[in-house]
Amino acid sequence: MIAATVFSGKKVALFGLGGSGIATAHALIAGEADVVAWDDNPDRVAEAEKAGIPVADLRSLDWSTVVALVLAPGVPLTHPKPHWSVDLARPAGVEIIGDVELFVRQRRIQAPDSPFIAITGTNGKSTTTALIAHILQEAGRDTQLGGNIGTAIMTLEPPKDGRFYVVECSSYQIDLSPSINPTAGILLNLSPDHLDRHGTMQHYAEVKERLVAGSDLAIVGTDDHWCALIADRLQRASTRVVRISKREVLADGYYAAGTVIMRASGGTAHAVADLAGITTLRGAHNAQNAAAAIAACIAVGLSEKEVFDGLQSFAGLQHRMQPVARRGRVLFVNDSKATNAEASAPALSSFKRIYWIAGGLPKEGGIQPLSSWYSHIVKAYLIGEAAPSFAATLGRNVAYEIAETLDRAVARAAADAAEDGSEEPVVLLSPACASFDQYKNFEIRGDAFVKHVSQLPDITMLVETGGT
Ligand code: ADP
Repeated sequence: MIAATVFSGKKVALFGLGGSGIATAHALIAGEADVVAWDDNPDRVAEAEKAGIPVADLRSLDWSTVVALVLAPGVPLTHPKPHWSVDLARPAGVEIIGDVELFVRQRRIQAPDSPFIAITGTNGKSTTTALIAHILQEAGRDTQLGGNIGTAIMTLEPPKDGRFYVVECSSYQIDLSPSINPTAGILLNLSPDHLDRHGTMQHYAEVKERLVAGSDLAIVGTDDHWCALIADRLQRASTRVVRISKREVLADGYYAAGTVIMRASGGTAHAVADLAGITTLRGAHNAQNAAAAIAACIAVGLSEKEVFDGLQSFAGLQHRMQPVARRGRVLFVNDSKATNAEASAPALSSFKRIYWIAGGLPKEGGIQPLSSWYSHIVKAYLIGEAAPSFAATLGRNVAYEIAETLDRAVARAAADAAEDGSEEPVVLLSPACASFDQYKNFEIRGDAFVKHVSQLPDITMLVETGGT
């Protein structure tokens, strides 16, 4: 754990007692801050109290004695409207920050030169974060991985020279970290998302920009309009910028030429890595993630060879286009994280002969946005509540059957794929739906897919069988 000594002897209010809130409270207490914590959910308050965290309703606090309000990242700072604790803190002139801000302040005191890579963007954050941490670990670096990816940042090992931090940041976390200053900051891409929390695309982009604007080196994916503008603006402000592109040849930066990641400088370029044989990094979207990871690792001192070696052994993230098994030429891929049509597009675009398992609880817009990838789908196996509406959308364009349940869909898709004479038919779970009609969450749905696949005869598993 990192003891947050920056508020030693001072009164700090904390709101939001989920996993990261509790961890942050412990970090503040370990740093001898006078913490008082609260949550709108009484169960959370009780749990925190049991864990030894002082609790009190922040409405009855004398805010003139408080130096900071630490908010959990899920608590609204601005949109749709500020949380009531924000409305109490603001007029009292109390600064409002989050756990990432505590970390960056602590790092500045304890080990300002420890390499710190922060990753944000609308899509690909977790993949890129995990990939960078993997490359660093394989290269023998002392590596800490945390943030939005799941490990609360204050539970990491404390900053010290030579220790590398790889931190995924959601826009919420950036919003609560006004002095974030990574050694290398990555902004992968921007598209409309979470606008409920950020109001407008303009505001969302401004928040994301802050992470790279504060970086010693800004690594920016310039394939979308918003990020391209940000890269230009940073360069005008004399920030060091490295551009990343998955489709454009760059004079300077890292770009994908097909599956090959090129490193360009002053108009000349050479290949750093070919992703062709790396099943966990398929598709143009992963070329963007890999290019950003390569740029970051080189920026913090790794050799091209170390980066190349790390890429080769990346196991991928669970439930995100994850190759889980093979049977003969057939590859089985778990993309359960794809809970809407947009999220299924990368997987559908990355394979050419797909036996597609889709459905669940449909989101607005259904699967119409995926029509440009219909030619990749040999047949669809529809499950859950969405089955009738997806069947109606597919109509005569794509062969389908209503399988209703995942186990039947796996059996039917596997049987059909086995008859496919192509080089690599793929049985793909990429539901384009939430899971809640049949499963508690997408992880359990993905685990169920892996389990059903593992029970097929003559199957070679590429992952361990987990879950229920
Ligand atoms: P995040 O952490 O930003 O939610 P993940 O790395 O968990 O992103 O990937 C989630 C899904 O987003 C993937 O399964 C894939 O469908 C899609 N994705 C991943 N990387 C990118 C990217 N660079 N651009 C667009 N979509 C991506």
